[in-house]
Amino acid sequence: MTESMRTVCHGCRQVTQYRDDAGNVRPMVLPGNGTVWVDRAPGGMVEEPCPVCGDSDDPGWLPGFVPPV
Ligand SMILES: [Zn+2]
Repeated sequence: MTESMRTVCHGCRQVTQYRDDAGNVRPMVLPGNGTVWVDRAPGGMVEEPCPVCGDSDDPGWLPGFVPPV
C-alpha cells in the first residue's frame, strides 16, 4: 500500500457552492494556495502566508489525514 494520503489545508481552504444536476446546492471545498487573507484594520485585507501550510512543499495540502478544527 503506497497510496499517500493528504488533506486539504483547513487554514487556507475556501468553500464554494455549486448546483448539482438535481438542482441541489452543495458545498464544495477548494484547496487553497498557501495564503490566507487577514483582516488588518485600517489597511483592510492583506494576503499572508498560511500559518498552517505556508512553508510546506505543497501549499494548500497537508500530509496524512487531518480532521478540521
Ligand atoms: Zn494552508
